[in-house]
Amino acid sequence: MITRFAPSPTGPLHLGHAYSALTVWQIAKNLGGTALLRIEDTDSTRVRPEHEASIYEDLSWLGLAWPEPVLRQSEHGANYERVLKQLAELGLLYPCSCTRRDIIDAGAVSGIEGMIYPGTCRHRSLPDAVAGDAFRLNLGKALAQISGQMTYTETGVNAAKDIAVSPHHLLQNIGDPVLRRKETGDPAYHLACVHDDARQNISHVVRGTDLQALTPLHVLLQRVLGYPTPTYHHHALITDEDGKRLAKIDKSKALAKYRAEGATPQDIRHLIGFVD
Ligand code: GLU
Repeated sequence: MITRFAPSPTGPLHLGHAYSALTVWQIAKNLGGTALLRIEDTDSTRVRPEHEASIYEDLSWLGLAWPEPVLRQSEHGANYERVLKQLAELGLLYPCSCTRRDIIDAGAVSGIEGMIYPGTCRHRSLPDAVAGDAFRLNLGKALAQISGQMTYTETGVNAAKDIAVSPHHLLQNIGDPVLRRKETGDPAYHLACVHDDARQNISHVVRGTDLQALTPLHVLLQRVLGYPTPTYHHHALITDEDGKRLAKIDKSKALAKYRAEGATPQDIRHLIGFVD
């Protein structure tokens, strides 16, 4: 059993991250497995070295340990380019030059992950790509290449059960995702995450329910790329006093701040209601 905690060093860790990390390590312990730490630092416009440094510091302070070396996605660009090549050979990628404005003007509606791409550039092919274009997955074409039903096993929130991936859900709520970002050429989260879960032989993905709606897309990518599908455990999110989800953008208090104010790791466990 191998699981992972995969934070993005784009902001300080807060209580929600502590809950997620403690859950990852707890499940690994219960199942006699290993918890890995993976740094998802692919978004070169948003990652900061000081946030990465505090990930190591905060997690060690919480009493968590992980095998070294830690996989830092920014060091493995060639792997993600290989995956893009594989998808390109399957005819599943197209270049896209649309700005956010273009997408809104084309009448796009919002989905789970921002606007659902209206398909403006879907007729284009990779040889026509110009510098700065994003690469998108042609979702409909990818779905058409899959035979049989796609399912995954969910062991979180409710009891263990098999969940069918609905092509309709993917098309209606997600649309053609960007897999290579515009301008920077950085690999997108979905691509790097799915690749590394396979590369690191992750048997159990433990993460918050906020990512659950994207899991069908990850299962689709796994099927297209010939990767195994891990078991998924989506855990409930902790909420602040107003019942709002704690998130980096909510300016929730950083773990480092609690620490500076004299809180102990035990205090943090109590605050987030983590019982082990
Ligand atoms: N890097 C992602 C985040 O910080 C987590 C990805 C995952 O656990 O699949 O939200």
